[in-house]
Parts: sequence; C-alpha cells; structure tokens
Amino acid sequence: MTEKKTHMLSEAEGYSLLRKYNVPAPVFEIVTSPEDAAKAAEKIGYPVVMKIVSPQIIHKSDAGGVVVGIPDADGAKAAYEKIITSVKAYNPQAEIKGIIVEEMAKKGLELIIGGKIDPAFGRVITFGLGGTMVEFHRDVAIRLLPVTDDEIRSLIRSIKGYTLIKGYRGEEPKDEEFLFNTIKNACTFFETNENVVEFDINPLLLYEKGGSAVDARVIIQDEPVALPIHYNPEKIVPLEYFKPAAVAVIGASDDKTKMGYAAFRNLLQFTGPVYPVNNKREEIQGKKCYPSISAIPGPVDMVVLTIPAKFVPSTIEECGQKGVKMAVIITAGFKEMNEEGRALENKVVEIARKYGIRIVGPNCLGLILPPYKLDTTYVAASPLPGDIAFISQSGAMANSVVGMSLTKGHEFGFSEVVSVGNQCDLDYLDYLGYAANDPHTKSIILYVEEIKNGVAFMEMAREITKKKPIIAIKAGSSKRGQAAAASHTGSLSGSYEVYMEAFRKCGVIAVTTVTEAFQCAKVMGALKKPLYGKRAVVITNAGGFAVLSNDYAELWGIDIVDIPEHLIEEMDTFLPPFWNRNNPVDLLGDADEARFRGVLDVLTREENETLWDIAVIITFPNKVLSPEQVGQVLIDYQKKSENLIVGCFIGGDCLQPGVDLAREHDIPVYDELEFVYRTLGLMTKNIVRK
Ligand code: ADP
Ligand code: MG
Repeated sequence: MTEKKTHMLSEAEGYSLLRKYNVPAPVFEIVTSPEDAAKAAEKIGYPVVMKIVSPQIIHKSDAGGVVVGIPDADGAKAAYEKIITSVKAYNPQAEIKGIIVEEMAKKGLELIIGGKIDPAFGRVITFGLGGTMVEFHRDVAIRLLPVTDDEIRSLIRSIKGYTLIKGYRGEEPKDEEFLFNTIKNACTFFETNENVVEFDINPLLLYEKGGSAVDARVIIQDEPVALPIHYNPEKIVPLEYFKPAAVAVIGASDDKTKMGYAAFRNLLQFTGPVYPVNNKREEIQGKKCYPSISAIPGPVDMVVLTIPAKFVPSTIEECGQKGVKMAVIITAGFKEMNEEGRALENKVVEIARKYGIRIVGPNCLGLILPPYKLDTTYVAASPLPGDIAFISQSGAMANSVVGMSLTKGHEFGFSEVVSVGNQCDLDYLDYLGYAANDPHTKSIILYVEEIKNGVAFMEMAREITKKKPIIAIKAGSSKRGQAAAASHTGSLSGSYEVYMEAFRKCGVIAVTTVTEAFQCAKVMGALKKPLYGKRAVVITNAGGFAVLSNDYAELWGIDIVDIPEHLIEEMDTFLPPFWNRNNPVDLLGDADEARFRGVLDVLTREENETLWDIAVIITFPNKVLSPEQVGQVLIDYQKKSENLIVGCFIGGDCLQPGVDLAREHDIPVYDELEFVYRTLGLMTKNIVRK
C-alpha cells in the first residue's frame, strides 16, 4: 500500500462517532479557557476529567495532558493551566485546540479494543488488557474481520486477563455480554467506515454491569482504504500447465559447476522428450543439442531457463513463437536485485502475457513433480515420489528439505516441490491450487516469509483444509528489526501475530521447525478421518515413558483421558495384578504382545472408540517383546481402528526393524517421546471441542 494522507480525529469526534455504534462514551464539552472549563465541569457534574485536545499529541498522559478526579471549580481552573503548561513543555510545536472536560467514569477493568489494516490480510481487531499499562501487559489477542460471534467470544476468552473479567478471587464477574456487544459494535464501526485506517478505544472501562469508553483515537484516511483482493479461482493456473509433453533446457550445460548441468541431468528422468539448448555445443550429456528453441523439430510446451537475465526477454519471445506454455526461470538478477532487474522482469512478464506463457520464478530453484518424474531444478539428487507437497519461499530451504528427505532409513517422498522465487506470474496460490487438485498430494507444507494476497490465500486455504491439511512454517517471529514500539494498536500485534491468526482462521497448522512440519504432514496424511478431538490413550511397557507422557501431553495440550472403570475391570481379567489401572496404561517391563493386544482389543471395540481420538503405543529395547512384534501390533490395530494410532520406539538402532515395518504401512512412528505430543499438540491446537 502506498502512503495515503491520514489525520487523527479528536477524542470528542471519536466519541461521537462511536456512540452511533452504541459504544458508550462520557458526556463532554470542549473549552478554551479556565473559566469555561469550570462552567463546563459544573454542568457535567463533579468529579470530572480534563484532557488536552491536540492533533499532535497522540499519547496524552505522556504529555501531562490528562488530569483525573477534578473535584471542584478551582480544581478545573488549575487543571486547565497545568495541562497547557505541561503540553507546551512536552511539545512546543503542538497545536492546542482546547481542552476536553468530561464526565469521570467510575473505576472499572481497563481494556483495549483496537483496529488496524494489515496490508495482506485486511482489517484486524485487537482486544486485551488496556489502560496506560497496555505495553506492560502485552496481553492482547486479535481476530481478522469479518468475525463470527463465536470468534468474538473466543477472542475475549483467549487473553490471560480473562480471569479478571470472569471475576478473580471473590470479585464479582464483569459484564461479558456488554463486552461482547461492544467488540461486535466496534467491528461494525470499523467495517462500515471505509476511511478508518486505525482506531483504539483505550481504555474501555468494564463494570459488573455495562461499561464505557473513556478515550478514543481514530485515524482517518482521505480516501477509502484499499483492501486486499479476494480469491478468484479463475486466476489459478490450470493443472495441465504442469503436465508437459516435452521439455527443453535453455542454457543446458556439460560443465558440472553450472546450474544448466544439474537442471538438464535431473530432467533426463522425464519420460517425454527432453532437449538441451545451447548455441555453443553439438551435444550435451549425450543428447543432441539445439542452438535455439526454434531449431527443435518437435513441439515443446515447457522450458527451463538458466541463461543470464539479460537474455531472458528475447528467449521468452522465441518460446512464445514456438508455442511454449510454461517457463521455469531459474535465473536470478531480476526484481530482487535492483531497479534495472525489476524493469527486466516486467518486460519478461509483458512478453509472456502476449503469448500466454505462464512463468515459475524467476530467481528460484524451480519445480519438481516426482510422481511425473519431472524435475526442473538443480537439486543434487531428485526427491522420491510421495504424498507431501512442499511450497517454499526459499530456494535453499527447498534444497535442504529435498536433501533431508533422502536420508538413509528416513526417506520420505513428495508430490510437489517448488520454490516460488519472485512470483512474477505464478504465485503461492497457483502452487497451492496444484497441490489441492493433485491426486498424489495428501498434505501440504508451506515455508512462508510473506504472503502478499493474504485474503485470497485464506479464502483458498479454508476450502483446501477441509480436505487436505496445510502446515506452515512462518519466518519472522522475532521482534528484531521491527519498528520501535509505540503505544497504539498498530504495534501491539505485529505481522507475525496476524499470520498466526490468519492460519488459525483458515485451518492452517502453524509450526516453527522443518521437523515439526514434516512430522505433522506425515501424521495428518495418515488420518482416516479428520481429528475432532485431542483425547489420547497411551499404552506402554515402559513405566518411565508413561510418566513422561503425562508431562509432555500437558505441555502440548493433549488430554490423557480417564478410562472408564468397567473397562479397567475388563483389563484386570488379563493383565497382571499389579498393573497401574490407569491411563497411560503401564503394561510393565515384562509385557508380551498379548498384553498390548488385549488392551487394544478393548479400546478399539466399536463402542469404545468414541472414548478417545489418538492411541500412542510406546516401546523400549527389551528381550520379551521384539520391535517387529510392536510394529505388527501397530499395523493390525491401525487397520481395525478409525482413530489415529501412532508408535514410539525409544532406544535407537536396535528398534529400527519395528520402525521400518510400521513405516512401510504408513503408520506415524517416532523415536523421541516429546515429538509425539508436540506433533499431536500442534495438529490439534485449534480444535475447540474435546
Ligand atoms: P492517553 O492519551 O494517555 O491514552 P487517556 O484518555 O486514555 O489518555 O487517559 C489516561 C487514563 O486516564 C486512562 O487510561 C484512564 O485510566 C483515565 N481516564 C481518562 N479519561 C477518563 C474518564 N473520563 N473517566 C475515568 N478515567 C479516565
Ligand atoms: Mg488512552
């Protein structure tokens, strides 16, 4: 968004505006002399509050511009002088428009309701503990507009200070219904006033009955705020663009240090014709080389470009004449570099549009679709086919993840790997669209630095997550480099918090590490039905891990449920007399396969499946029970149950045969207990129902 002219409404104007939306505010009068101040106060009724009115003074208390509890006429006159003197000392340039004399509201819980515009996600509403200590508390939460009533209610309950609203230590509860209505009214105010860019009501005083705004700051823009665009399915590139019949690499090379070498080598796996283009060579990597794209006899519908940036526009022109549909431009040196590069990129886009060529990149690693043996990138080794789509805003990250996926004994496969680069044409949404419609993809992982069209992203993601999980690693949570904090809504929640809220709202699972992302993707890909709850049963032969399970589960918000007494009694009939009769079920160190199966028979019986959502089976190296036996138990009961069953083999390489067996059957397995609960916790964080 470009900078538009804005101005701040006075507190009085703010009150008048908010009152139209049923937000109560004090009675007030603006005065310009001590005598008038006393007269106004008399009319309003003592005690009164007096505050500076100046467009330059945003934080009135900081400027000594607020006097509360004025008891009489002398007090009002004195306050007038005091405020003027302090404000002049604080900012000699400030234009003093007068002083507002207002009704002094009785003491209450000080809250903040604020609003701001996020350039990618649109209107954001902030709510939390307010007053002059707002920065100190930093207890705020946000919602993106439009909001539902449920979202407003959960917003209220999500702050730590909710305890104070509910009534802390014998105090009467505050008027939550009034608060709910006021937030809702503030949202309506924000949505219907298209010129409001930012506002805050700080504080809103909340009482046992009702409440009142006692400060209002509203920032208005001269023209209506430009909101982010909505999702338009027609804008998404059709799937067939990703299904070329023939591919050419322009800039293919025999020099192993060049990108054109690896890109061509990786493409050689492709089942259709692959042509090297290079005007200096007859042959490249054993294939006949062509001096230009037009010299290739057959049709070509996809090209990969590794040539220097300055040659890209003319080459795209040639590709257009050849009938190419998609160009993967790996080359860097465009918009990310300088203005010249930006101009070059615009030119490329212009030419591509003329011919209807769609572009991946530029300045990217490229695109890999392992199920189709299509690898347009220069990765050291192509990934295996699988069911995870990985869409990355970093080429290096994509490279690393591909490398990790090939680690011996821990291999996993992909349905799509793409580094989006500069997104001059195809963007995040296009690759997401591919993953959503691609039959090979079961789960989608995003590495996100910035999403420009956040609203469209959310609208799209909300639909996708009903069918396939989306997991996002979002960079940029640190405060470093962010503008110095000022006491207003704009800085109370940074853009990271907005992303987190956007993800929550559209069902995207936010994680912080690559490992978490892949673990979530694997588990979610293995689900037979969506997870509606986070109730776990834990079955183990390892007492220590039973104890630790309680700790980790609590840490990550997983509920270890009580097993009903009649089922415990049933388990008594086949378990040794000293078993713990509790969840986690500790089958004791000498447990054989039969004990595991016995307990699982009870728990997976149809009527008992509704008691839990997740079963965690944990084992350790021992002589009674082989890892393969545990692997087989996992396989058998995963077949039997609709619920999620995960395994945890703690004890290193000697347990690998069990791990391998379970993995072959797509059962999520772990070698570290904390990861089990962490993954489950991340996956189920936004599940409200138990
Ligand atoms: P600032 O510009 O510093 O945010 P405020 O108008 O919020 O100034 O006033 C500072 C504090 O004074 C408020 O947080 C509140 O505690 C108190 N206050 C202000 N106006 C009133 C009022 N009308 N009734 C009661 N308390 C008030
Ligand atoms: Mg204030």
